[in-house]
Amino acid sequence: MKAKVNKDICIGCGACTQIAENVFEFGEDGLAEVKKDLKEIKAEDEDSVRDAKESCPVEAISVKEKDDEE
Ligand code: SF4
Repeated sequence: MKAKVNKDICIGCGACTQIAENVFEFGEDGLAEVKKDLKEIKAEDEDSVRDAKESCPVEAISVKEKDDEE
């Protein structure tokens, strides 16, 4: 799984960083991003990433279930 935050849309509400704290963090710009030191999303974190995507009020999070998906 891969996840991405569209910073042009993110409003910095903090939902994703609470729901999937292992995956999302705030950058210096105050907007969410996938943790820079995270090489891959662990299987046990995938459900929380899906929850975060569903909970984002502005749909700024995109998720690819498979790494090779475009
Ligand atoms: S839930 Fe969405 S709007 Fe809120 S911080 Fe995360 S990406 Fe940004």
